[in-house]
Amino acid sequence: LQKLIVGNSIYLNTSDSLASVSHERARETAQNGQRPYAVVVSCSDSRVPSEYIFAAGIGDLFIVRTAGNVIGEFELGSIEFGVQYLKAPLIVVMGHSNCGAVEAALANQGDGYLSAVVREIQSGLNGVTDEGEAIHKNVLHSKQRILESPIVRQLLEAGQLMIVCAEYDLFTKHVDFFS
Ligand SMILES: [Zn+2]
Repeated sequence: LQKLIVGNSIYLNTSDSLASVSHERARETAQNGQRPYAVVVSCSDSRVPSEYIFAAGIGDLFIVRTAGNVIGEFELGSIEFGVQYLKAPLIVVMGHSNCGAVEAALANQGDGYLSAVVREIQSGLNGVTDEGEAIHKNVLHSKQRILESPIVRQLLEAGQLMIVCAEYDLFTKHVDFFS
């Protein structure tokens, strides 16, 4: 808790950074609303901070995070909100190396509600056992789940939306995009 409190105070006192987290931007977006330039669907993993990774600031990214970037009804609803009402023109589905959720799915581990996450990941693996390949397949599976949304499909067909896949490398901090 102390770390969060100190972190927030640093954040509050930052007036200048690579991305705009300025008070001015905060006030401007609070007043005029958000117009994020992308919806980023990624893993809850603390080593995958989308705003830092993409040098984005306040109002830039509409982010949906779940363990293993799995997609269910709440996530689809959030994505639809981002693309339909906020008019974000891009969806990025981003997995990452060393993903614990994918590792749990491969090892068939996970109790409590985590078992639902594991089952969802497993349903997209089609028997793949290699971790790197599983991470890749899991991103593509999440993309397919997002395409189940008629609203998303409509916007894609109208040329008002693009969807891309990505993988973030924890070691190099590099994002590799693919479709
Ligand atoms: Zn992960």
